[in-house]
Amino acid sequence: MPDASFTPTDRSRVKRLHERGKYDEASIFAILDAAFIAHVGYVMEGQPFVTPTAFWRQGRTLYWHGSAASRMLRFQEKGVPACVTVTHLDGLVLARSGFHHSINYRSVMAFGTAKLVDDPREEAAQLDLFIDRLYPGRRAELRPNETQELKGTTVIAMEIEEASAKTRTGHPKDDEADYALDCWAGVIPIQQVVGKPEADPRLKKGVDFPTGLTRYRDGARFDELLVAQMTE
Ligand SMILES: Cc1cc2nc3c(=O)[nH]c(=O)nc-3n(C[C@H](O)[C@H](O)[C@H](O)COP(=O)(O)OP(=O)(O)OC[C@H]3O[C@@H](n4cnc5c(N)ncnc54)[C@H](O)[C@@H]3O)c2cc1C
Repeated sequence: MPDASFTPTDRSRVKRLHERGKYDEASIFAILDAAFIAHVGYVMEGQPFVTPTAFWRQGRTLYWHGSAASRMLRFQEKGVPACVTVTHLDGLVLARSGFHHSINYRSVMAFGTAKLVDDPREEAAQLDLFIDRLYPGRRAELRPNETQELKGTTVIAMEIEEASAKTRTGHPKDDEADYALDCWAGVIPIQQVVGKPEADPRLKKGVDFPTGLTRYRDGARFDELLVAQMTE
């Protein structure tokens, strides 16, 4: 049975405010699965690039995809070191001094080697997983992918070698003397929420909003619905 924690090395051990760091799969996967976008960092000819992209997870492997013409994906096909970062902004923390202002957040940095998914059946299966993770049951409602569409799409996989999570929650931590100041302090929560779905003006008459997408309700939290869809 695999260890349920990643073993931190000097590369992935949280040093600054180390008490906020975690390495267990449960904490790391919960942050990854609540996100739709990651930032993928890699170094190409000595130049660092950090590219925002949609991603998904299966087990300890992260996947992302795009046009076969993408410079990032063509470079990563060869098998290159990468760092994938995910961030949730949960709140602004207002302290009684500028120095103690902070941010409530959940973030993950995952390290590994990005490489091409070169088996066409696995590529197609991963793309289906990507669609169904976001939109449960939708793959079955779509027309089959054309061969040309699959040829024009690249899927990259990165098995996580090591990863760290870092989180902050709660109120400001002010200097003791500053609690006596007439200065408002506290947390302004920030959430990413779903808006009211807008039907395509060219939608065929009589086509209803998919029953599998009931979690996409006006005002629903996007991070929570992504996790709920993955676990149901
Ligand atoms: C939304 C958000 C806003 C932030 N704003 C600021 C800011 O304004 N100023 C600031 O100084 N810091 C900020 N941070 C914290 C920042 O991400 C770093 O943790 C911090 O700057 C320390 O960097 P370091 O290189 O010294 O970390 P170190 O502790 O030396 O990093 C060593 C290893 O720890 C792990 N690690 C470090 N940071 C994180 C992280 N955030 N998530 C997961 N793993 C991590 C990585 O594996 C990294 O390789 C913010 C974080 C988030 C998520």
